[in-house]
Amino acid sequence: MAGKDYYEILGVSKGADADEIKSAYRRLAKKYHPDLNKTPEAAEKFKEINEAYEVLGDEKKRANYDQYGSADGPQFQGGAGGFGDFFNGAGGGFGGFSDIFSDIFSAFGGGGARGSRVQERGEDINISMRLSFDEAVFGVEKLISFNRIETCKKCNGTGAKNGKEFTTCPDCKGMGRVRIQQNTVFGTTIRETVCPRCNGTGKMIKERCEECGGKGCKKVPAQVRVKVPAGIDDGQTIRMRGEGNGPAGQGIAGDLNIKVMVAQHPIFKRVGTDLLFDLYVPFTTCLMGGKIEIPLTKGRKTIDLEPGTLNGTVVRVKGKGVKVLNRDAYGDILVTIKSEVPKNLTKKARDILKDLDNKFDENDFPKVKEFKGKMNNLQ
Ligand SMILES: [Zn+2]
Ligand SMILES: [Zn+2]
Repeated sequence: MAGKDYYEILGVSKGADADEIKSAYRRLAKKYHPDLNKTPEAAEKFKEINEAYEVLGDEKKRANYDQYGSADGPQFQGGAGGFGDFFNGAGGGFGGFSDIFSDIFSAFGGGGARGSRVQERGEDINISMRLSFDEAVFGVEKLISFNRIETCKKCNGTGAKNGKEFTTCPDCKGMGRVRIQQNTVFGTTIRETVCPRCNGTGKMIKERCEECGGKGCKKVPAQVRVKVPAGIDDGQTIRMRGEGNGPAGQGIAGDLNIKVMVAQHPIFKRVGTDLLFDLYVPFTTCLMGGKIEIPLTKGRKTIDLEPGTLNGTVVRVKGKGVKVLNRDAYGDILVTIKSEVPKNLTKKARDILKDLDNKFDENDFPKVKEFKGKMNNLQ
């Protein structure tokens, strides 16, 4: 349990709101539901998704998880788990998920497990997009080009010439369903199921569509306008629903997932919505204080350095960092002051500093005095 990144499992950012989490969960649960996805990894993946949603979908548990980094956080009673119920049998054990599952199954024409025709969903497309530092900070609109599978317009996705050159399926006689007889130790059972030959359509293609060769779909160049929100960070993904590959037959298109790669800034180091950098200042300015110009994401700003600023002091410039995604809030700029000391001194400078040094006594350096006192108390 510990160490799993539930946000990563659901493919959402740490700042995602409840709706985003819910819709990410729905999408993934649909994709990996063992009734709909027969790949060997689906069941494990589905369990993992549920585990993540049990935590992130619950305000209280999510807060615990955020704080303690694990669902085993101190305030947890019972922890996650309990999904075994679901896998052992239908019904029961669903708890808070039932509303979502009923949604999923209604989207698939009801009762996915009962062998009704399952609507197909096209594959997701994963691409990446490079952004400049400023584009990520301020947001941008971009036109991106890629190839995707789209339903053939000429045959309306049927694969048959003009969308109507069909014959009746000989196996099911157009019913779309067939009876299968099974002999078991308990006797013979007859089961009705979707006709495998026509996939439940009851029809077979008589003459293929010449545009798509009977596949009902084609790979075509596509262009999509992407609105990149201000504040997006390197490694985050923009999900555009239904902009992925179309299904081979009737159904819904997959999603287009655009992973963002943000270029580095020459000065700022970005940490979440904060911008950090080291500011080198002559030691005399640290000593006497003064005004210093710093860069902002747009333009500049003059900050006041207090007299007697220590090397390593962090000055926080509030609200001048990066915008928080989907919220009207901003991070800060954190300036770490680095006092620069000349490496070589002229004789004259050295004499002046010596003279200055003599003008101080131990009370001018209380920290030094305190440390010496502690040291003298050691054996
Ligand atoms: Zn058939
Ligand atoms: Zn076609």
